Amino acid sequence: MKFDSLLVHYGELSTKGSNRKEFIRCLVHNVRVALKAFPVEIKGNRDYILIGLGDQKPEPVIARLQEVSGIQRISLIYKTETPIETIQEAATALIATQPGKTFKVETKRTDKTYPLDSYGISIAVADAILDHTDLEVDVHHPDIVMKVTLRPGECLLSCQDYPGLGGYPLGMNGKVTMLLSGGIDSPVAAYSLMRRGILVDCLHFASPPYTQMAVIDKLKDLLKQLNVYQNDIRLQVVPFTKLQEAIYAHVPEPYCITIMRRMMIRIAEKVAKKNHCLGIATGESIGQVASQTLQSIVTINDVTSFPILRPLCVSDKLSIIETSKRIKTYEISIRPYEDCCTIFKPKKPKTKPRIDEAERYEASFDYASLIEEAVEGITNIYLSGGEEVEGKQIVCPNPGDLVE
Ligand code: ATP
Ligand code: MG
Repeated sequence: MKFDSLLVHYGELSTKGSNRKEFIRCLVHNVRVALKAFPVEIKGNRDYILIGLGDQKPEPVIARLQEVSGIQRISLIYKTETPIETIQEAATALIATQPGKTFKVETKRTDKTYPLDSYGISIAVADAILDHTDLEVDVHHPDIVMKVTLRPGECLLSCQDYPGLGGYPLGMNGKVTMLLSGGIDSPVAAYSLMRRGILVDCLHFASPPYTQMAVIDKLKDLLKQLNVYQNDIRLQVVPFTKLQEAIYAHVPEPYCITIMRRMMIRIAEKVAKKNHCLGIATGESIGQVASQTLQSIVTINDVTSFPILRPLCVSDKLSIIETSKRIKTYEISIRPYEDCCTIFKPKKPKTKPRIDEAERYEASFDYASLIEEAVEGITNIYLSGGEEVEGKQIVCPNPGDLVE
């Protein structure tokens, strides 16, 4: 006898009330997608997802599940019938497969009609283990904890738990247009949103020939890494050169970054609305650079009433770097590259740009038609499961579209 199934405990479900059904439907869908390559059987119910392992080794399946958002915890379990003799027999056989010399039994009983209470079950199971093995009881520092969960009609036995990613199932909380540069911050911001159940649709502003094609390759590598958390991702590449040249021809140098950002947001808003995204997201962090002071953000934000999410706005650089190493985007992000921001970087960017000033400089050239042209010229790159896929539209599922 061996532990032959995995039990997936739902994440922040308790706080979600009426969204429970949607949470579960979305998570079951995502677990199916994540475990596509494994010959396992997946069944979801209102309390947990049960994964029958068959001959499949548990470790790689657990590792993959630890990358799926919305999972609190994963337990390696064995499911038995409920007569106490059956439970005793199974617990004795299973505990013998675990390393260690001491144990304790912990029981949770949700079936209140069961003839024994939790304490009675623990004692009965512990007695059987003591009778049939050399293990000894240690209630304070046991090597093995045998958890017995008694539910109506079934009993779950487990000795090992693994932490999940937490958060919400991806797709449950809508979709945003993510402004993705080649730096460290924006991929971490994208990951943070995915963990909260938000799908990301990426947008990059490219200024060839000032920026190199190598940036696009770098972005593809970043997105292949992010495919671990969101299986299907699109990168929309905006031709930004003309608009950027117009900015530098008409706007005094200290205001160039501010105006450039305002143009990016105007374009992002159009793209977001066209793609049914509910907001724009960036990797900005307050105070990090001149364009990221609060005063700057006020002036940049003024061009839209659309929500702009800044998941990293109060994060320290060190913790951002730590996350980027954990999600394996760091090594890709630090590859040298020329961003449209670095190329045209003014010597003295304005740290407190004013809205009226920005508007005055923008009035000096016809940016609206350049914005239209940029949006018209967007090209798409699709990445799915860590591979670039050609010519195929990937439709990111909205919760309502998921059929289980
Ligand atoms: P990052 O590490 O994400 O590049 P950063 O600290 O270098 O951030 P900036 O270059 O000022 O900061 O960019 C701030 C944010 O603006 C980025 O996180 C990203 O969301 C967006 N952004 C900047 N440049 C581009 C670009 N070329 N295309 C798309 N988004 C961009
Ligand atoms: Mg950058």
